[in-house]
Amino acid sequence: MKNLLSEIQNCTLCKDYLPFHPSPILRASKTAKIIIIGQAPGIRVHNSGIPWNDPSGIELRRWLNIDSEVFYDTSEIAIIPMGFCYPGTGKSGDLPPRKECAPTWHEKLFNFMPNVELILLIGQYSQKFYLEKPKKNLTEIVKSFEEYLPKYFCLPHPSPRNRIWMKKNSWFEEDVIPVLRQKIETILKK
Ligand code: SF4
Repeated sequence: MKNLLSEIQNCTLCKDYLPFHPSPILRASKTAKIIIIGQAPGIRVHNSGIPWNDPSGIELRRWLNIDSEVFYDTSEIAIIPMGFCYPGTGKSGDLPPRKECAPTWHEKLFNFMPNVELILLIGQYSQKFYLEKPKKNLTEIVKSFEEYLPKYFCLPHPSPRNRIWMKKNSWFEEDVIPVLRQKIETILKK
């Protein structure tokens, strides 16, 4: 795992498409029980080098009902986005994660992580990549979250930009978050 993480830190596979020199941001360990697969670092995370160190991270920790100390305990929780490096921005915000990243690195990382009990798929990119039978859109996937358990827990992105989605879909807060919290608590207690 140490060698693999060092190999990733030196990865320049898609450097020609990135706005800055590659700077992969992820956390992983052989003992992790939960993997969080989000999209790609935003500029704030790129600058700090700390994943989910932004308003989305604050909201995600609220959903999970855990504090920063638990969230960043790599021995329990791995943070492995679809793209490890900041992809830059386009006309409508941050660009998608680089498509080279997950196929190149994810499986290699997961092979070193035998204790994983739950994988959080956050946002459409990870859901499209991992779900064998995705629904027509993210809302339908999240609504049917139980279909993808026990391996995957599908979530929307906790970005403040998704506040309208949260308001429109109050079932998420009422029905999905309590199940998510219960699962996280049970796994972390073991
Ligand atoms: S995004 Fe992934 S594949 Fe591309 S340079 Fe960064 S670590 Fe390598």
